Amino acid sequence: MDAHGYDRELREVAKRDRAREAAFLQKHAGSGGPPQLANRIAGRRLPPLEGTYVDKHDPARGKVLCQVPRSGRPDVEAAVAAAKLAQPAWAATPLAKRCAVLRRTAELIERDMDRLVRMESEDTGKPVKLAGSLDIPRAARNFRFFADFLESRKEAVHLTEGFRNETHRVPVGVVGLITPWNLPLYLLTWKVAPALGLGNAVVAKPSELTPRTADALADLLAEAGLPDGVYNVVHGLGPEAGEPLVAHPDVRAVSFTGGTATGAKVAAAAGPKKLSLELGGKNASLVFSDCDLDETVKGVARAAFTNQGQICLCGSRILVERSLFPEFTRRLAEHAKGLRIGDPLDPATDLGSLVSQSHRAKVETYLEVAQDEDATVHCGGGRPDLPGVLADGAFLQPTVLTGLDQDSPLVQEEIFGPVVTVQPFASEDEAIALANGVRYGLAATVWTKDANKAQRVAERLDTGMVWVNCWLVRDLAVPFGGVKDSGFGREGGEWSVDFYSEARNICTKVTP
Ligand code: NAD
Repeated sequence: MDAHGYDRELREVAKRDRAREAAFLQKHAGSGGPPQLANRIAGRRLPPLEGTYVDKHDPARGKVLCQVPRSGRPDVEAAVAAAKLAQPAWAATPLAKRCAVLRRTAELIERDMDRLVRMESEDTGKPVKLAGSLDIPRAARNFRFFADFLESRKEAVHLTEGFRNETHRVPVGVVGLITPWNLPLYLLTWKVAPALGLGNAVVAKPSELTPRTADALADLLAEAGLPDGVYNVVHGLGPEAGEPLVAHPDVRAVSFTGGTATGAKVAAAAGPKKLSLELGGKNASLVFSDCDLDETVKGVARAAFTNQGQICLCGSRILVERSLFPEFTRRLAEHAKGLRIGDPLDPATDLGSLVSQSHRAKVETYLEVAQDEDATVHCGGGRPDLPGVLADGAFLQPTVLTGLDQDSPLVQEEIFGPVVTVQPFASEDEAIALANGVRYGLAATVWTKDANKAQRVAERLDTGMVWVNCWLVRDLAVPFGGVKDSGFGREGGEWSVDFYSEARNICTKVTP
């Protein structure tokens, strides 16, 4: 369809939805209750067709922040139709212009940093210190990085005798992006930036627990010049809104980040389309006795407790060479006790609340198992005593446990909270066997001053990523992803290009 045809069709869709949007805005302006979010379809704020919502709570304070549309298949179908309509003209927009929109979006995220940081902190319970240093800056970086990366790429040319092969990239079409609650804008933009840069249109289904920054992004993208319909958001619950998106025949690729059990359902629903699954982790931190102890305690604690342990990359299984085990455990617990737990909106807070009461209850079941298994609690093990409005928040103390066997659920299962186990090892072989002895294979860290040992160990770890003497250092050009039950597919740099576009080769006879 040419640009005029596209505009005409889009205008028709817009006309149909205008009345629904107007009614939504009027109702929203008149109500004194918590604000209602809308879906973002073809540039419009549209209420869910069934008209139902779920409450979204601030997990630290308990108050309702907003109501989230409980969308269903018809909403998804409308969003996919809008994306399908808008995509060809966006794909035909020159790369430099698409990348200019990405760069402008990065600037707008930075302009709105304080607002977005607060929003992310309230939605997730994470400290503003973290949202302001990691989540929101990284969201801006995702856009800037992919703008630069895509513009600097060279397409391949192969000269075969008498023929010229040119391989270039074409967009996949409409892509479905499903994201979790732990790093909402960070992970969404990690997918949105390359998808848009490569000329796709997007339908995003953010986590129902953390919907607001995905909504805010719609405004920023529109302000940056993204045409209506190229970025659409359908809010709602996974089985009701996520699954129809995954299964939709016009959605040609799905990038999913979330839990392993959900990933299996997504894989089953996707059918024959491109799929990237970034799933759970149970990452090991391998600490050797020749490490730099001060740096290692700090680094391992950071890997364990950042975001209250709710990052897929968190190192929740700490394996320590036996000779260092008692001292390391004591120092790690001391460090954890020194972390300031409290109001996520206080800039001095290190640890905020977990994402919800029900998630804390799940994490607490593991503390009960630890008790049943006679684990030794070196610090934490329960709820902190916080005053006033925070008293009923979903807070949990950072907890360090020892005395658990390799087959304990606390060692084998992803807890996704501030609870870590420490296990001793006697040799490199034992350390590697323990590290690899789980169903997950996302990431690992190795802590030693011996570079040869670090290399040797890193090469034997069954994970997609290994950090040596560091953690969560992210060069956006390198592949990100896991093995085993941590998923498949890689994103980042050229791997994102592979996922969000198809290679097309044109072979032309060269006439002398
Ligand atoms: P989740 O699997 O419960 O939900 C993730 C998303 O999937 C949400 O948007 C949810 O609404 C949606 N969803 C749920 N059921 C669905 C279905 N049947 N079909 C389609 N979509 C569905 O995960 P979560 O609790 O939001 O996030 C925590 C999990 O995410 C942890 O396991 C964590 O390790 C993982 N995670 C992985 C990475 C990674 O890069 N590997 C990064 C962050 C988080």
